[in-house]
Amino acid sequence: MMKESDKRTSRIYPERHQVLHGDATVAAPPSSHTEHETVDQATGEIRTHRVDEDAGVTTEGGGRQVYGNKFLSVGVRLANRAHSRVILALESIRHRSQEEDPEREAEGAAFVELVKHILTRAPGLRAATYDAALRGVHRAPLIAEGLLVFTPQHTGLPPQSLERYQDGPCKHDLYVAEARVCERHITVDGQTHYTPLPVEELECRPGRRTRYYHRLTIPCRFKDHTLRIRVDETEDDRQIDPTAGKKRFNRTEHLRQVPPDTPAGRRLKGFRQDSESTHSRFDQSYPHKRVPAYGAKGALLIYIGYAWLNNSVTRAMHHQAALVT
Ligand SMILES: [Zn+2]
Repeated sequence: MMKESDKRTSRIYPERHQVLHGDATVAAPPSSHTEHETVDQATGEIRTHRVDEDAGVTTEGGGRQVYGNKFLSVGVRLANRAHSRVILALESIRHRSQEEDPEREAEGAAFVELVKHILTRAPGLRAATYDAALRGVHRAPLIAEGLLVFTPQHTGLPPQSLERYQDGPCKHDLYVAEARVCERHITVDGQTHYTPLPVEELECRPGRRTRYYHRLTIPCRFKDHTLRIRVDETEDDRQIDPTAGKKRFNRTEHLRQVPPDTPAGRRLKGFRQDSESTHSRFDQSYPHKRVPAYGAKGALLIYIGYAWLNNSVTRAMHHQAALVT
């Protein structure tokens, strides 16, 4: 797994075992008590409780509130092979404000650090998938490392003006909407309409910072135009706009290497499910789905033990199996 494959595959359709998947989970501590002492309202009896000092309430995607310690896992697996999952990295991550917990990284930054570390050992990796918690600011450094980074797109991002394409008498207004380059048209009744431009290819130019381009076609009644648009973060994007006080263009937030609502995007999205399975199996491994340790460090140690067992099963099942099916 993770080796550079000798099979020639499209950059947007990497093989399963060249794609990292990651996700965060909140693991329940042995006790849900948040107060050291509680008073029985009827009898006045005071009871003492053990409290996990690191645990806290986190809102999961979907709005559900969960109590516990937050962990991040990164893994890889083979396509269509049971018991082939390898947990590559685990980290205990921050779920409070930075002032309250200055030592640990938050979810997105922690994922970037883990993946960069894995890349130093496995340079043949092609892609990484995560959920919507990973934003453009986190995708940018991983794209620069050469990876295809796939996550679902945040909803509600307004269309961004990109550039006006000019060629002779032609003018085409290009915008970024729904994670890809679109041409803006104003209809006869004054409505704004964004038409996605066909992406012919995702081009990659390796270097100190890897560059990625969409080779696009603008369909036109005079003649079709071809152009390239960067989909990694450019030097110009990083310049601070003095009036707004922030980066000129958050390109990797708005414009995606593989737009989510495409066949290649839906395939990559499916790969991430394996992380949820990792966490679900971890939860089910302990009575009442509670990690048998107090504190984030203790719980991480338990999780490392679980990963060790998981990876040992994979090793035993696939030690002599041929990689390519
Ligand atoms: Zn034209």
